[in-house]
Parts: sequence; C-alpha cells; structure tokens
Amino acid sequence: MSRDERYDVVIIGGGPNGMTTAAYLAKSGLSVCVLEERTECGGACETQEPIPGVRMFPHAMLMYASPAPGFEQLELHKYGFRMSWDPIDMASKANTALTCTDGWRQPTDKDYEGWGKLGGLFGAPPFTRELMRAAFWCPPHPPEVEVTDDNVPYMQVYKKYQADVWTPELRQMTMFDLMDEHCETEWFKTCMAFAAWASGAAGHWEGVAVPAVLCVQLLTLPGTGRISLPRGGLHGYFHAIHRCAVDHGTVVRTCCPVDEILVDDGRAVGVRLRENAAIGGRKVWANKAVISGCDVHQTFLDLVGPKHLDPGVIRKIKDISLKNGTLYVSTFFLKKPYRYKPKFAEWGAATPDGRGVGPNRYPTAGVYPCDHRDIYYENVADVDGRKAQPTVPAERAMWFQTPSQGWDPTDCQGHHPKGHVTSAFEMNVTPPDYHLEGEDAPDKYKKEMDAYMVEAFSQVFDGLDEDNIIHHWSATGREIEMRNTGLIGGTWCGSRHDEDQGWTSRPIPELARYRSPIEGLYHAHQTSGHPGGLCLMAIPYNLMHILIEDGVAEPGDWWYASPYYIPQEGKISANRK
Ligand SMILES: Cc1cc2nc3c(=O)[nH]c(=O)nc-3n(C[C@H](O)[C@H](O)[C@H](O)COP(=O)(O)OP(=O)(O)OC[C@H]3O[C@@H](n4cnc5c(N)ncnc54)[C@H](O)[C@@H]3O)c2cc1C
Repeated sequence: MSRDERYDVVIIGGGPNGMTTAAYLAKSGLSVCVLEERTECGGACETQEPIPGVRMFPHAMLMYASPAPGFEQLELHKYGFRMSWDPIDMASKANTALTCTDGWRQPTDKDYEGWGKLGGLFGAPPFTRELMRAAFWCPPHPPEVEVTDDNVPYMQVYKKYQADVWTPELRQMTMFDLMDEHCETEWFKTCMAFAAWASGAAGHWEGVAVPAVLCVQLLTLPGTGRISLPRGGLHGYFHAIHRCAVDHGTVVRTCCPVDEILVDDGRAVGVRLRENAAIGGRKVWANKAVISGCDVHQTFLDLVGPKHLDPGVIRKIKDISLKNGTLYVSTFFLKKPYRYKPKFAEWGAATPDGRGVGPNRYPTAGVYPCDHRDIYYENVADVDGRKAQPTVPAERAMWFQTPSQGWDPTDCQGHHPKGHVTSAFEMNVTPPDYHLEGEDAPDKYKKEMDAYMVEAFSQVFDGLDEDNIIHHWSATGREIEMRNTGLIGGTWCGSRHDEDQGWTSRPIPELARYRSPIEGLYHAHQTSGHPGGLCLMAIPYNLMHILIEDGVAEPGDWWYASPYYIPQEGKISANRK
C-alpha cells in the first residue's frame, strides 16, 4: 500500500508565511499539509534557551503587523494571541530622546507633527490603519494595469485624507527627502532613516519613501504610540497562528525537509520528501496547489530545477539578491545590570522613575549615534559599498537596541535570578555572500567583531566589560543564515528596491503576484514577495487574493479583500462583496 499522502494544498516551510497561508486556506475549507524541515515551526520567529532559564529572542522581537487583516480574519485572539498593552510609550518625550555622541537630544514639536502627519495621525479621523493596509496589505496590481500616481494604494489614501502630503514626486522620493519636507532635526531624521535601513527599506533608497517611513511607524500600535510587542514575543504570536491552522485541520509535519517539487506537464502536483525525513522519502500530492514558504533560490533552482524552467527565467532568479542586509545580533548575560554612562544618566534623573524600561527600569538606547545623516552614510558606505569588515571607528558605528526589557514581567526574555539578560543589540553588517573575502569571512572575524560590538555599545553603557559579562551571545550574518533563512531578503520591498523593479513586477515579472511559471506553484516567502520580511501576514493575505482569482480558494463570509485591490482580467475577483 502506498504511504504517499494527498491534500488539496501542500505548503513547504512552516515559517510565519507558510503557516499563515495554511491557516487561511484551511479556514477556507481546504485540506492542507505543512512540511517543515526543522524540529519546530516558526522560522525566524523563534525563542531560544541557550542555557537553562535564559531565554532570548535571537531574531524577530517587535511585531510590525498590528494593522494586518489576519488578526480579525483568522481570529487570532481565540488562539491565544495577546498583545502587551503596557510597553514603552514611544509618543512620550521621555522615551523618544535620541542617543547622540554628546548625550540625549530631543526631537522637536515639528519632528513629531511631521512624523505623525506622514503616519496618518492627523486626518479626521486618523487614517493610520488604512494607510498601512494600503501600503502593505494589498496585492500588487495585475500586469496589464499601468502603475500610476492615481492607482498606487498609499497615494490614494494620502489624496483622500492628507492632501498636503500628496505630490507627484512622492513615489520617486527617498525617505530623507520626505522627512526633509515634514520634519526638522537631523537627529530625528537620522534615527528614523537608520530604523528603516535595519528594517529593509533604507532611508536613502529612491522610490520607497513611503514604505520606508511606514515600516518604522509599524513598530508602534496605530493610534496609541505604544511599541508593538506581543506577549510571549514573536514566537508567542506565531503559536496563535499555528494553533489556528491546526484547529482548521492543517496537518503539520516537522523534520520533513522537501527535496523536490513534483512537476507534471508544467503543473506542480506535489512534493518529494528527503530520504531522512521523519516520514521517509515519501511523496505528498497536491490536488490544487503547492505553495513554497522557503526562499526563492531554493524553491526554483533546487526544488523545481532547470528541467522545468526556461533558462532565461533561471538566470533572472539567480540574479535575485536574497541579501539586502544582515544584522549582527548580540545579547549579553551580565552579573550586574549595565548602566548609562554619566552623560546619558542625566536624562534618567529628569524623569519621575528614571529613564529606562520595563519592571526593572533597564536602560535602553534605541539607535546610536543619531547626530547627523553623515554618520548614517558612513555606515551605509561601509556595509553596502565596501562590503567587508567595518572601517568606521567603533565610536561612530551605528547600532540599535531593541527595547525588550519593556516587556511584561511574565515575558521570557530579560528575567533571570542569577544575572541580567540584556535585550538584543543589532548592527547592520555586510551580507556574507557579498563579503569581499568570501561568505565565511564574517565567521572568521567573529572575535574581532565581538570586541568591536562591545566597544560600540560601550559608547553609551558601562558594564559591558569582561569582568561583568557571563556570556556574550552573538550571531554573525553567516550564523543567522545557517540557522534559518530568517533575514535573507528581509526587506519590505521583496529583495529589490529599484524603481524599474517596481511593485507589480517584484521580484521579477515571471514571479509577480506570487505566481510562478509552473502552474499551480505559488510562492509565499519573504525573499520574493512585496512587502517581504518583517511585514507579517502580508504575503499570505495578499496571496489569498491570487488563490481566489485562480479558483484555488473559496473563503467564507469572514474574508474581505483589500479595497485597493484590482482583479486580473478574466479571473474570479477576490472582492466578493
Ligand atoms: C535578526 C533578525 C531580526 C528580525 N527581527 C524581526 C522583528 O523584530 N520583527 C519581525 O516581524 N520580523 C523580524 N525578523 C524577520 C522575520 O523573522 C521574518 O520576516 C519571518 O520569519 C519570515 O517568514 P518566512 O515564513 O517568509 O520565512 P522563514 O522564517 O525563513 O521560514 C521559512 C521556513 O521554511 C523552512 N524550510 C526551508 N527550506 C525547507 C525545505 N526544503 N523543506 C521544508 N522546510 C523548509 C525553514 O526551516 C523555516 O522554518 C527578523 C529576522 C532576523 C533574522
């Protein structure tokens, strides 16, 4: 008897995109199987416990997804999703002073007003959620539709609610251009541009001004100014999606790497598992669709392979950059808590309970050093230009510290009876496969890089000296990639950002709108979809429009399409209202 299995839809990869797609499709009544290579699902939304009792979030920490329709459509609250409602209030001036080389500097009222206006806070009513959904939770327009100022969703929203932001140049601008028009201080603009660079759509890239501004704004919950942190971290959020998918009947198989996508007469019909998979090298057949939730290179170059693809398409896929950026992540386990250096401590005295976050009022730094955009450009030139080990002196190296100690006391990171776990410090570094000395270079220089990082962070804090450090966990870009595919293509723009590779044709025209040259094969991974990594639940929601168009999914009344979606001619419209 055949041990092979058959489902309506087979999904490769149980990361956030694969699992959310499974939840949507299973809720639509389809039989769905998720095949995950690792022992646990969650991809880069994971919690690690490197030594007993010390839990940390090595990758994703902040949830850039709060306006996602998926919360309502998948009813994640029923599956245990809980937001932390008392984290740092980013709108409070005490928390938004910016860390510069001479100490804290305050943003001005004009900074706040300009920033709030760009984020839709001053519309009547405020239109933040609609703006963000329009920018990210809407599938690209069909290829036959010319993209114009009138039909780009975020352009429509600005025109409707905040006409003084709308200009014909808006779609060509960099984020710096936009902030120069609406905000005031260099330190505010530099901080925000760096936050955008670390999130994927950098402050100096042309043509992505609005996505770059909004990806930083998504760090806060719309209308509250409070930072967006789910309880239990991003893995806690992921668990809610996983439970939802399973509750609607999804079969999840871990330790099941896929080795091949089976193609018959140009159509994807299933997958073949690796011989050492937990259920052996069996085939899992798909009646309606195969959806790949793993990276674009692996999907088409390895799992589909050259015999089913045109050589021109293969060349284009090889040329897709998976690595727009990589972060070097450091987390410290300390004997005594670190403290601000005196020039930063002053600020603590000025606020009622001292500057710092969370129940223990841990110091937090945000982005450093924010003095001027020249520093930002020096760092960009090093990472994206020279593509080697840093040449910027450690005291001018830009980094950011995630505010994880602002989390609820029940949260897993940051509380340990025998020491103090810092929140993660992260620095943009050259992606391994662009490193001039080869992709293993980041690991070769790890010791020097760790020392460089400590020197950089010590510009703001005391206590990161050897005597006080019990352990410094650091992950080079190379190590992060070896562990999972988390950061590759972790950009809002789906791996590319040039205007000629615009929204409707990302990452290449043959893969636009999550379809592929293989009938029945769709792609739902951060490396190929706009808005790509970080923007959680966007690819699955957007992909659902396409699956409805193609007759794969027929969701119930709970489904609603993006109001800015344009159906493809000759297809079933996903807008069913
Ligand atoms: C350092 C770092 C910091 C980040 N910070 C944040 C943050 O603060 N907030 C945020 O929202 N996001 C953050 N992210 C990004 C976020 O984690 C990713 O956007 C998200 O994980 C992408 O989901 P995905 O499903 O597309 O891919 P992945 O998470 O990469 O999941 C892909 C899954 O496919 C599996 N797989 C791969 N190949 C196969 C195969 N052949 N067979 C079976 N399974 C396979 C993998 O094991 C993995 O589980 C961060 C990422 C990193 C690395």
